[in-house]
Amino acid sequence: MKYANTVLDTIGDTPLVKLNKVTEGIAATVLVKVEYFNPGGSSKDRIATRIIDDAEAQGLLKPGGTIVEPTSGNTGIGLALVAQQRGYRCIFVLPDKVGEDKRNVLLAYGAEIVVTPTAVAPESPESYYSVSDRLAREIPGAYKPNQYSNLNGPRSHYETTGPEIWRDTEGKITHFVAGVGTGGTISGVGKYLKEQNPSIQVIGADPEGSVYSGGTGRPYLVEGVGEDFWPTAYDGSVVDEIIASSDAESFEFTRRLAREEGLLVGGSSGLAVASGLKAARNLGPDDVMVILLPDGGRGYLGKVFSDKWMRSYGFLPAEEDRTVADLVG
Ligand code: PMP
Repeated sequence: MKYANTVLDTIGDTPLVKLNKVTEGIAATVLVKVEYFNPGGSSKDRIATRIIDDAEAQGLLKPGGTIVEPTSGNTGIGLALVAQQRGYRCIFVLPDKVGEDKRNVLLAYGAEIVVTPTAVAPESPESYYSVSDRLAREIPGAYKPNQYSNLNGPRSHYETTGPEIWRDTEGKITHFVAGVGTGGTISGVGKYLKEQNPSIQVIGADPEGSVYSGGTGRPYLVEGVGEDFWPTAYDGSVVDEIIASSDAESFEFTRRLAREEGLLVGGSSGLAVASGLKAARNLGPDDVMVILLPDGGRGYLGKVFSDKWMRSYGFLPAEEDRTVADLVG
C-alpha cells in the first residue's frame, strides 16, 4: 500500500512544470516549482517543519509547549499544521487588518489567535510585536520561532528545495529565480545550487519600492515579499541580481498564469515570473530557468482575481458589465 503516515510526510517534492504560453518569444526553457502542492498550500510548510524540529532538538520546545508567532499568512498555516500533528499549542498574533478568511484558516487547523490594533505604534504595549513578545515571555513553555531571524528557514530550503531542483533538472539548471520576503528561500536554495555549480545565476524578484531593490519600503500591494528592513534570514552573498517589478506587472502575470498555464497562484508568484522573464528574454536555448511559485491563488480571490478590486487600483480599465448582447456578438 502506498500512503503517507501523516500529512507532514507529504511536505516537499513539489513538481516542476514548464511554462508554455507566457514565455512566447523566449528561447530558454522556463520551469516553475509549484509550492502550492505542499499540504498547507505554500513553501512555508518546509520552514515550519525545520524550525520545530530544531526547537525540539535544542530543548526550546518540550511536550505540551506553546508556539507563539506574529504571523497571519503562510508561515502560520505551516506552523499550525506541524504543531497540531506534534501536539503543541499554537497562538498567532494578527493585526486587525487581516481578513476573516485568513483568520478562519488558522482557527480551522486548531490554532488560537489574538487580534491587535493596527493603528498603534510598534512600541505600544498593544502592538503586534509587544503582544507576541509578552505572550512568549509569560506563557510557560512558550517558544517564538521568529521567521525573520530563524536560520532554520533558509536551512530548510538548503536541505530540501535546492536538492529537489538540482535532482529534477538533472543539474541542467542555469538560473534560479525567487521572490524575496524573509529571504529564506533565495538564500537556502541559492547556497545549495551554487555549491553544486557556482555559475548558476541566482536572481531575486522584488516589488518596486522594497529595500532589496534599493527602495525604502514604500508600500506595494503584492503580499509576502519585499521588506522595509534587512532580515537576518537573507544572505545577499548568494544573490547575483535583484530584478524589481511593479504591482501592475506582478498582477498581470498572476492572472496570466491562471488563465494561460492553469496555475492558480498568488501575487508573489506573478512577481517572480514577471521579474524572471525580464532576465529570460536575454537567454539562449540551452538555458534552463527555474522560478519558484510560493503559494496558491485561493487566498487572493477577492484581490488580484477580482476585477472590481483590480479596477479600484487602476490595474484594469473601468468597464461596464457585459450584457447578453455582448456575449452572443
Ligand atoms: N511569497 C509569499 C506568498 C510568502 O508568504 C513568502 C514568505 N514571506 C514569500 C513569497 C517569500 O519567501 P521568503 O520569506 O523565503 O523570502
